[in-house]
Amino acid sequence: METKTIYIAGLGLIGGSLALGIKRDHPDYEVLGYNRSDKSRNIALERGLVDEATANFAEFAPRADVIILAVPIKQTIAFIRALADMPLKDNVIITDAGSTKAEIVAAAETYLDPSQVQFVGSHPMAGSHKSGAIAADVNLFENAYYIFTPTSLTRETTIPQMKEILTGLHARFVQIDAAEHDRVTGQVSHFPHILAASLMEQAGAYAKDHELTNRFAAGGFRDMTRIAESEPGMWTSILLSNKQAVLDRIADFQGHLDSVADLIEADDADGIWHFFNQARLTRKTMEIHKKGGIDSGFDLYVTIPDQEDSILKVLEILRGISVMNIRINEENREDINGILQITLKNQKDQARAMDLLAKDPNYNVTL
Ligand code: NAD
Repeated sequence: METKTIYIAGLGLIGGSLALGIKRDHPDYEVLGYNRSDKSRNIALERGLVDEATANFAEFAPRADVIILAVPIKQTIAFIRALADMPLKDNVIITDAGSTKAEIVAAAETYLDPSQVQFVGSHPMAGSHKSGAIAADVNLFENAYYIFTPTSLTRETTIPQMKEILTGLHARFVQIDAAEHDRVTGQVSHFPHILAASLMEQAGAYAKDHELTNRFAAGGFRDMTRIAESEPGMWTSILLSNKQAVLDRIADFQGHLDSVADLIEADDADGIWHFFNQARLTRKTMEIHKKGGIDSGFDLYVTIPDQEDSILKVLEILRGISVMNIRINEENREDINGILQITLKNQKDQARAMDLLAKDPNYNVTL
């Protein structure tokens, strides 16, 4: 198979993980890296993420068959602009990893020459709170959506070639229009980050006069606000790069809050019940029930006492059965039982695990 030179600019969490994923299926490819800081550049070399690394973006660009920009959105646009004036290989594929797409796609269409280069927008939809080359993980994109947003510089062969280069990511490739990408991620990703941070802001202010707030905040509050710990710089640039979609979701949500307030004001118990029930039904139809691509349809819920080795004892009972995922759902009080959510591989394993645990009087098991 033809070997290629891949140039990744930005050896952070995303760039570093892409490098590892590409090398997994294409160990013969030459992977070059750019990174501004010495730290991630040195780590990338030490960990073997890249074969060579530079602090000068222009240095490796002419050698590349594929250039992947995995830097913040503003810098991605600046690099697209800079690439327009660099001597590049004919028909080089340029792509990115930015969390928003319309602005980046517009920059590529404005600055790059379609007769010389190919460009397709990309958004690998996985991440974590970690950053830098130290956090690079070959499995980061496993079962995650990897979105391509075509542009006027995307040829018929561009996306198939990229898919081939990225097979080692084990991601699920999807292709959509950049503006639609930004609208949908505005709803399911960007707006929830605003909500989580607002909830923290509200609770933080409230805690000043109500000191029990911090103590009473339990599992539900934690689940709702986990993403409030995300990196502020990245989220600032995401919101500013997807202004219209985000403002639209904020305005829409204000309407939703007002409707609930009206129901409560009117003592409309039926209306409130339907509000919660509809939310529950809608959530059940969403893919969030599949964690990391694992279908959570074969779950067991085990009530366990808050004691030493509780989880180990449950797993001991399940010895020999393949447990796909395990999660503790804490109740409101820490001194009473917690619920262990165990995901099994199939219905047969689920039934066997249920049988084994039900025999033990220490556990209360439900499907
Ligand atoms: P990161 O902080 O781990 O890495 C960012 C990289 O960009 C670093 O190598 C840093 O040195 C470099 N960089 C930052 N500012 C720069 C500048 N002004 N000039 C040159 N280099 C600069 O971040 P990451 O999570 O890898 O994010 C990279 C891109 O991937 C961003 O566009 C982000 O929107 C996107 N993305 C992030 C996630 C996530 O959850 N982390 C998920 C999908 C996409």
